[in-house]
Amino acid sequence: MDLVESLAHKPAQAYLIVGATASQFARQFAQHLFCPQECQHCPHCTKLAHGTHPDLTWVSKSGKRISIDQVRDLQQKAVYPPVEAPKKIYVIESVEDLSLEAANSLLKILEDPPRYLVFILLAKSMNILPTILSRCQIVKLPTPPRAHIERVLRERGLSEREIEILLTLTKGLMPDESLLAVAKQFISERPKIQKQLGALHDQTLWQSLTEQNPFVRREAVIEILKRLPNYSSAQVLDLATTLSKCAQEIIEFFIQEALYWYRDNLGRRELLPDRHTIYALETALWKLQHNANVLLLAESLLFTLREGLRATSA
Ligand SMILES: [Zn+2]
Repeated sequence: MDLVESLAHKPAQAYLIVGATASQFARQFAQHLFCPQECQHCPHCTKLAHGTHPDLTWVSKSGKRISIDQVRDLQQKAVYPPVEAPKKIYVIESVEDLSLEAANSLLKILEDPPRYLVFILLAKSMNILPTILSRCQIVKLPTPPRAHIERVLRERGLSEREIEILLTLTKGLMPDESLLAVAKQFISERPKIQKQLGALHDQTLWQSLTEQNPFVRREAVIEILKRLPNYSSAQVLDLATTLSKCAQEIIEFFIQEALYWYRDNLGRRELLPDRHTIYALETALWKLQHNANVLLLAESLLFTLREGLRATSA
Protein backbone atom coordinates (compact mmCIF):
# COMPACT_ATOMS: atom_id res chain seq x y z
CA MET A 1 0.00 0.00 0.00
CA ASP A 2 1.48 3.34 -0.93
CA LEU A 3 1.16 6.55 1.10
CA VAL A 4 -1.91 7.84 -0.76
CA GLU A 5 -3.78 4.56 -0.28
CA SER A 6 -2.90 4.24 3.38
CA LEU A 7 -4.07 7.80 4.08
CA ALA A 8 -7.33 7.34 2.18
CA HIS A 9 -7.90 4.05 4.00
CA LYS A 10 -8.70 5.87 7.22
CA PRO A 11 -9.49 9.42 6.13
CA ALA A 12 -9.02 12.32 8.52
CA GLN A 13 -10.77 15.64 8.05
CA ALA A 14 -7.68 17.76 7.74
CA TYR A 15 -4.24 16.98 6.39
CA LEU A 16 -1.14 19.09 6.32
CA ILE A 17 1.11 17.94 3.50
CA VAL A 18 4.66 19.23 3.88
CA GLY A 19 7.25 19.08 1.15
CA ALA A 20 8.32 20.30 -2.27
CA THR A 21 5.95 17.91 -4.07
CA ALA A 22 2.94 18.68 -1.85
CA SER A 23 0.71 19.95 -4.66
CA GLN A 24 1.29 16.89 -6.85
CA PHE A 25 0.59 14.73 -3.84
CA ALA A 26 -2.63 16.62 -3.06
CA ARG A 27 -3.83 16.17 -6.62
CA GLN A 28 -3.25 12.45 -6.49
CA PHE A 29 -4.80 12.18 -3.04
CA ALA A 30 -7.93 14.08 -4.14
CA GLN A 31 -8.23 11.82 -7.15
CA HIS A 32 -7.88 8.76 -4.95
CA LEU A 33 -10.62 9.99 -2.60
CA PHE A 34 -13.00 10.56 -5.53
CA CYS A 35 -12.00 7.50 -7.57
CA PRO A 36 -9.98 4.91 -5.61
CA GLN A 37 -8.96 3.17 -8.85
CA GLU A 38 -7.57 6.47 -10.25
CA CYS A 39 -8.92 5.18 -13.55
CA GLN A 40 -8.29 8.43 -15.53
CA HIS A 41 -11.52 8.17 -17.57
CA CYS A 42 -14.54 8.30 -15.23
CA PRO A 43 -16.34 11.67 -14.78
CA HIS A 44 -14.44 12.32 -11.51
CA CYS A 45 -11.00 11.69 -13.02
CA THR A 46 -11.82 13.63 -16.20
CA LYS A 47 -13.14 16.66 -14.33
CA LEU A 48 -10.21 16.63 -11.91
CA ALA A 49 -7.78 16.55 -14.83
CA HIS A 50 -9.54 19.55 -16.38
CA GLY A 51 -9.76 21.40 -13.07
CA THR A 52 -13.57 21.51 -13.31
CA HIS A 53 -14.65 19.14 -10.54
CA PRO A 54 -17.37 20.93 -8.52
CA ASP A 55 -16.34 19.25 -5.26
CA LEU A 56 -12.70 20.25 -5.30
CA THR A 57 -11.83 23.83 -4.42
CA TRP A 58 -8.18 24.77 -4.83
CA VAL A 59 -7.20 28.01 -3.10
CA SER A 60 -4.00 29.83 -4.08
CA LYS A 61 -2.84 33.22 -2.90
CA SER A 62 -4.24 36.22 -4.72
CA GLY A 63 -1.43 38.74 -4.58
CA LYS A 64 1.02 38.31 -1.74
CA ARG A 65 -1.22 36.36 0.63
CA ILE A 66 -4.27 34.17 0.93
CA SER A 67 -6.79 36.74 2.11
CA ILE A 68 -9.48 36.64 4.74
CA ASP A 69 -12.09 37.03 1.96
CA GLN A 70 -10.88 33.86 0.27
CA VAL A 71 -11.23 31.92 3.54
CA ARG A 72 -14.64 33.47 4.32
CA ASP A 73 -15.80 32.33 0.92
CA LEU A 74 -14.77 28.76 1.81
CA GLN A 75 -16.54 29.07 5.14
CA GLN A 76 -19.79 30.15 3.49
CA LYS A 77 -19.69 27.38 0.87
CA ALA A 78 -18.75 24.70 3.43
CA VAL A 79 -22.42 24.36 4.46
CA TYR A 80 -23.32 22.91 1.04
CA PRO A 81 -22.67 19.16 0.77
CA PRO A 82 -20.74 17.71 -2.19
CA VAL A 83 -22.52 17.71 -5.56
CA GLU A 84 -21.08 14.64 -7.27
CA ALA A 85 -18.41 13.05 -5.10
CA PRO A 86 -18.75 11.43 -1.65
CA LYS A 87 -16.50 14.15 -0.21
CA LYS A 88 -15.94 17.82 -0.71
CA ILE A 89 -12.27 18.79 -0.75
CA TYR A 90 -10.67 22.13 0.03
CA VAL A 91 -7.01 22.37 -0.90
CA ILE A 92 -5.13 25.36 0.48
CA GLU A 93 -1.87 25.96 -1.27
CA SER A 94 1.00 27.40 0.77
CA VAL A 95 -0.46 27.70 4.27
CA GLU A 96 2.55 29.91 5.02
CA ASP A 97 0.87 32.57 2.86
CA LEU A 98 -2.32 32.82 4.93
CA SER A 99 -2.70 36.27 6.44
CA LEU A 100 -3.12 36.16 10.21
CA GLU A 101 -6.85 36.94 9.96
CA ALA A 102 -7.24 34.33 7.24
CA ALA A 103 -5.46 31.72 9.40
CA ASN A 104 -7.71 32.50 12.35
CA SER A 105 -10.79 32.28 10.18
CA LEU A 106 -9.60 28.96 8.80
CA LEU A 107 -9.18 27.67 12.35
CA LYS A 108 -12.88 28.23 12.95
CA ILE A 109 -13.84 25.86 10.12
CA LEU A 110 -11.13 23.37 11.12
CA GLU A 111 -12.52 23.21 14.64
CA ASP A 112 -15.80 21.66 13.63
CA PRO A 113 -16.01 20.90 9.91
CA PRO A 114 -19.07 19.19 8.33
CA ARG A 115 -18.47 15.44 7.99
CA TYR A 116 -18.23 15.49 4.19
CA LEU A 117 -15.50 18.12 4.15
CA VAL A 118 -11.80 17.22 3.79
CA PHE A 119 -9.08 19.84 4.11
CA ILE A 120 -5.75 19.36 2.42
CA LEU A 121 -3.34 22.08 3.48
CA LEU A 122 -0.03 22.37 1.67
CA ALA A 123 3.18 23.76 3.10
CA LYS A 124 6.85 23.90 2.27
CA SER A 125 7.96 23.74 5.88
CA MET A 126 6.60 23.17 9.38
CA ASN A 127 6.84 26.88 10.11
CA ILE A 128 3.08 27.20 10.65
CA LEU A 129 0.71 28.40 13.37
CA PRO A 130 0.78 25.64 16.02
CA THR A 131 -3.00 25.88 16.39
CA ILE A 132 -3.35 24.84 12.74
CA LEU A 133 -0.75 22.10 13.09
CA SER A 134 -2.61 20.60 16.04
CA ARG A 135 -5.80 20.17 13.99
CA CYS A 136 -4.20 18.36 11.07
CA GLN A 137 -2.82 14.95 10.35
CA ILE A 138 0.71 15.80 9.26
CA VAL A 139 2.25 14.11 6.24
CA LYS A 140 5.90 14.89 5.58
CA LEU A 141 6.93 14.03 2.05
CA PRO A 142 10.51 13.05 1.27
CA THR A 143 12.45 15.49 -0.91
CA PRO A 144 12.80 13.90 -4.33
CA PRO A 145 16.29 13.93 -5.80
CA ARG A 146 16.87 16.30 -8.71
CA ALA A 147 17.02 13.46 -11.23
CA HIS A 148 13.52 12.40 -10.25
CA ILE A 149 12.14 15.95 -10.60
CA GLU A 150 13.76 16.27 -14.01
CA ARG A 151 12.19 13.01 -15.14
CA VAL A 152 8.73 14.12 -14.00
CA LEU A 153 9.10 17.43 -15.84
CA ARG A 154 10.34 15.67 -18.98
CA GLU A 155 7.25 13.47 -18.85
CA ARG A 156 5.19 16.66 -18.72
CA GLY A 157 6.68 17.60 -22.08
CA LEU A 158 9.29 20.17 -21.05
CA SER A 159 12.63 20.30 -22.87
CA GLU A 160 16.03 20.11 -21.14
CA ARG A 161 16.60 23.88 -21.33
CA GLU A 162 13.08 24.60 -20.09
CA ILE A 163 13.64 22.29 -17.13
CA GLU A 164 16.91 24.04 -16.39
CA ILE A 165 15.21 27.47 -16.33
CA LEU A 166 12.39 26.22 -14.18
CA LEU A 167 14.68 24.55 -11.64
CA THR A 168 16.86 27.65 -11.51
CA LEU A 169 13.77 29.61 -10.54
CA THR A 170 12.63 27.10 -7.92
CA LYS A 171 16.21 26.52 -6.69
CA GLY A 172 15.94 22.84 -7.52
CA LEU A 173 12.54 22.18 -5.98
CA MET A 174 9.58 20.73 -7.81
CA PRO A 175 7.61 23.63 -9.36
CA ASP A 176 3.94 23.83 -8.46
CA GLU A 177 1.16 23.64 -11.05
CA SER A 178 0.66 27.39 -11.37
CA LEU A 179 4.37 27.95 -12.07
CA LEU A 180 4.31 25.11 -14.60
CA ALA A 181 1.46 26.78 -16.48
CA VAL A 182 3.24 30.15 -16.49
CA ALA A 183 6.43 28.43 -17.67
CA LYS A 184 4.75 26.69 -20.59
CA GLN A 185 3.19 29.88 -21.84
CA PHE A 186 6.40 31.84 -21.42
CA ILE A 187 8.51 29.24 -23.20
CA SER A 188 6.43 29.48 -26.37
CA GLU A 189 6.76 33.27 -26.30
CA ARG A 190 10.39 33.56 -25.17
CA PRO A 191 12.01 34.54 -28.52
CA LYS A 192 9.39 37.26 -29.00
CA ILE A 193 9.91 38.57 -25.43
CA GLN A 194 13.71 38.59 -25.80
CA LYS A 195 13.35 40.59 -29.01
CA GLN A 196 10.99 43.06 -27.37
CA LEU A 197 13.30 43.54 -24.36
CA GLY A 198 16.30 43.90 -26.66
CA ALA A 199 14.57 46.76 -28.49
CA LEU A 200 13.70 48.72 -25.33
CA HIS A 201 15.46 51.92 -24.29
CA ASP A 202 17.57 51.48 -21.16
CA GLN A 203 15.18 53.26 -18.79
CA THR A 204 12.19 51.23 -20.01
CA LEU A 205 14.20 48.01 -19.84
CA TRP A 206 15.17 48.78 -16.24
CA GLN A 207 11.50 49.23 -15.38
CA SER A 208 10.93 45.63 -16.54
CA LEU A 209 12.80 44.52 -13.39
CA THR A 210 9.50 44.91 -11.54
CA GLU A 211 7.73 42.65 -14.06
CA GLN A 212 5.43 40.18 -12.23
CA ASN A 213 6.26 37.15 -14.35
CA PRO A 214 9.58 35.76 -13.02
CA PHE A 215 10.53 34.36 -16.44
CA VAL A 216 10.16 37.76 -18.11
CA ARG A 217 11.95 39.42 -15.20
CA ARG A 218 14.79 36.98 -15.60
CA GLU A 219 15.13 37.84 -19.31
CA ALA A 220 15.17 41.54 -18.39
CA VAL A 221 18.04 40.96 -15.94
CA ILE A 222 19.99 39.07 -18.62
CA GLU A 223 19.44 41.84 -21.17
CA ILE A 224 20.69 44.40 -18.61
CA LEU A 225 23.78 42.28 -17.87
CA LYS A 226 24.52 42.06 -21.60
CA ARG A 227 24.39 45.85 -21.89
CA LEU A 228 26.26 46.57 -18.66
CA PRO A 229 29.85 46.37 -20.04
CA ASN A 230 28.97 49.15 -22.53
CA TYR A 231 27.37 51.48 -19.99
CA SER A 232 29.04 54.78 -19.11
CA SER A 233 29.63 55.52 -15.43
CA ALA A 234 26.66 57.92 -15.49
CA GLN A 235 24.44 55.14 -16.81
CA VAL A 236 25.69 52.74 -14.15
CA LEU A 237 24.78 55.31 -11.49
CA ASP A 238 21.30 55.75 -13.02
CA LEU A 239 20.78 52.01 -13.09
CA ALA A 240 21.92 51.76 -9.46
CA THR A 241 19.35 54.41 -8.50
CA THR A 242 16.57 52.55 -10.32
CA LEU A 243 17.58 49.23 -8.79
CA SER A 244 17.84 50.64 -5.28
CA LYS A 245 14.23 51.84 -5.48
CA CYS A 246 12.97 48.32 -6.19
CA ALA A 247 11.57 46.05 -3.48
CA GLN A 248 14.21 44.04 -1.63
CA GLU A 249 13.03 40.78 -3.22
CA ILE A 250 13.57 42.28 -6.69
CA ILE A 251 17.11 43.37 -5.80
CA GLU A 252 17.82 39.90 -4.41
CA PHE A 253 16.42 38.37 -7.59
CA PHE A 254 18.71 40.59 -9.68
CA ILE A 255 21.80 39.55 -7.70
CA GLN A 256 20.82 35.86 -7.74
CA GLU A 257 20.27 35.93 -11.48
CA ALA A 258 23.55 37.78 -12.01
CA LEU A 259 25.27 35.04 -10.00
CA TYR A 260 23.69 32.28 -12.09
CA TRP A 261 24.30 34.08 -15.35
CA TYR A 262 27.88 34.95 -14.48
CA ARG A 263 28.80 31.42 -13.41
CA ASP A 264 26.99 29.98 -16.40
CA ASN A 265 28.71 32.22 -18.92
CA LEU A 266 32.12 31.70 -17.39
CA GLY A 267 31.53 27.97 -17.46
CA ARG A 268 30.60 28.01 -21.14
CA ARG A 269 33.68 29.98 -22.14
CA GLU A 270 35.89 27.71 -20.07
CA LEU A 271 37.44 30.66 -18.32
CA LEU A 272 38.58 30.51 -14.73
CA PRO A 273 35.79 31.81 -12.50
CA ASP A 274 36.34 35.45 -11.69
CA ARG A 275 36.42 35.04 -7.94
CA HIS A 276 36.43 38.75 -7.29
CA THR A 277 33.10 39.38 -9.04
CA ILE A 278 31.42 36.30 -7.63
CA TYR A 279 32.59 37.25 -4.16
CA ALA A 280 31.19 40.77 -4.68
CA LEU A 281 27.81 39.36 -5.70
CA GLU A 282 27.65 36.97 -2.77
CA THR A 283 28.68 39.68 -0.33
CA ALA A 284 26.08 42.07 -1.76
CA LEU A 285 23.38 39.47 -1.19
CA TRP A 286 24.45 39.04 2.41
CA LYS A 287 24.65 42.79 3.03
CA LEU A 288 21.24 43.33 1.49
CA GLN A 289 19.76 40.92 4.00
CA HIS A 290 21.52 42.80 6.79
CA ASN A 291 20.16 46.31 6.24
CA ALA A 292 22.98 47.83 4.24
CA ASN A 293 22.57 51.19 2.46
CA VAL A 294 20.92 49.91 -0.70
CA LEU A 295 21.96 52.71 -3.05
CA LEU A 296 25.65 52.48 -2.10
CA LEU A 297 25.46 48.72 -2.34
CA ALA A 298 23.89 48.84 -5.82
CA GLU A 299 26.43 51.36 -7.09
CA SER A 300 29.43 49.45 -5.82
CA LEU A 301 28.07 46.12 -7.06
CA LEU A 302 27.20 47.36 -10.56
CA PHE A 303 30.63 48.93 -11.04
CA THR A 304 32.36 45.72 -9.92
CA LEU A 305 30.08 43.71 -12.18
CA ARG A 306 30.77 46.02 -15.14
CA GLU A 307 34.54 45.70 -14.70
CA GLY A 308 34.26 41.93 -14.31
CA LEU A 309 32.17 41.63 -17.45
CA ARG A 310 34.49 43.90 -19.42
CA ALA A 311 37.54 41.89 -18.35
CA THR A 312 36.00 38.53 -19.28
CA SER A 313 34.49 39.64 -22.57
CA ALA A 314 37.78 41.23 -23.71
ZN1 LIG B 1 -11.75 7.50 -12.22
